Amino acid sequence: MRKRLSLSAYADGIRSGNRVILSQAITLVESMLAADQELASQLVQEVLPLTGNSLRIGITGVPGVGKSTFIEAFGKLLLDQGKKVAVLAVDPSSQLTKGSILGDKTRMEALAADKRAFIRPSPSGHTLGGVSARTREAMLLCEAAGFDVILIETVGVGQSETAVKNMVDFFLLLMLAGAGDELQGIKKGIMEMADGLVIHKADGDNLDLANKAKTNYRNALHLFPQSGKNWSPKVILASSLTGLGLEKVWDLIKEYERKMKDSCFWETNRAEQRINWLEDQIQDLLGQAFLRNEKVSEYLQEGKPKVKSGELHPGVLAQQLINLFLTR
Ligand code: GDP
Repeated sequence: MRKRLSLSAYADGIRSGNRVILSQAITLVESMLAADQELASQLVQEVLPLTGNSLRIGITGVPGVGKSTFIEAFGKLLLDQGKKVAVLAVDPSSQLTKGSILGDKTRMEALAADKRAFIRPSPSGHTLGGVSARTREAMLLCEAAGFDVILIETVGVGQSETAVKNMVDFFLLLMLAGAGDELQGIKKGIMEMADGLVIHKADGDNLDLANKAKTNYRNALHLFPQSGKNWSPKVILASSLTGLGLEKVWDLIKEYERKMKDSCFWETNRAEQRINWLEDQIQDLLGQAFLRNEKVSEYLQEGKPKVKSGELHPGVLAQQLINLFLTR
C-alpha cells in the first residue's frame, strides 16, 4: 500500500516547493479512500492562506488542434518571463479509455524537464464532478507550492468546459482555420465562454486561411457578448511552431487580468467559483456516502435488473434508495 505522509510533512513539503511532495499530495487528493479525502481536505485548508495568487488559465480545443504543443510553447514563454508554471488537465474521456490527456508527457518534454514547471495528467476513474473537484484541489496545492501560472487543459467536446470555466480566471479556446465548417463542431456554448480565441497553426500555407478566419471569428464573437463584465473576447493568430502570436496571447491575458481586477470582477468571479465548488463538493461527497452505504448498495443491486428490463421506473427506485439512506 502507498505510504502516506503526515499532514505537516505534506504541508511543509508544499510550502517549500518540493515537487515530489506536491506530486504525492495530489495523489492523496485523487484518492477515493474516505480517510485520504479527509486528510486531503485538511491539507488544502492548511495551505489555503498561500493560495489564490496565481493566474488560472483554461485551455480548450478539439483533439488535434495542438493544445499540448501550444502549452509546451506557451509554457516555455512563461518560464522565460520568470514565471513558474503548473499544467493540469480535466479529461472527460479518461473514464472511458482510462487514458488521459497529458498522459503522453513526451509531448511536453521540454516543459516537463524544467524545474520551474510541473505537469500533472488528469486523474482517471472519477466522474467529471470528481475530476473537477480534484483538479481544483490540485490547483490550490500548486499555488501553495509557488506556481504562479496554472494552465488547465481540457478537450473541447463536452461538459468539461463548463467545469474548467468554473475554476479559471481566463478561458482560452484554440481553433483551426479552414477545417471545413468555421465552427468545427465546437459548440456555440463553448465559444460563448471564451475570453480569448486563438487560431492555431497559423504558419506555412495555413497563414492566409488563418487571416481570413480571423475576420470570421471576430464577427462571430460579436454575437456572444459576455455578461457581467466589460470585456470583448479577442482573436489572435498563433503558431506553436514559429512562435507567432504567443506573446500576444500573454499580453491579452495580462490585459484581461488588469481590467478585471480594476473592475472587481476578478474577485467576484472567484467568490462565485468557490460557492460553486462548495455545491459540487456537497453533491460529490453525498454521492459517495450514498454508494458506500451497504443497505443502499444491496438494494440498488437488487433493483437494477428491474430498471434495466423496464419493469421498474428509475424514479421509483431512486426515491426508495434515498428513503433507505435517510432512515439508516
Ligand atoms: P492536441 O490533441 O490538441 O493536444 O494536439 P497536439 O499538440 O498533439 O498536436 C496535434 C498535431 O498538430 C501534432 O502533429 C502537432 O505537431 C501539430 N501542431 C501543433 N501545433 C502546431 C502549429 O502551431 N503548427 C503546425 N503546423 N502544426 C502544429
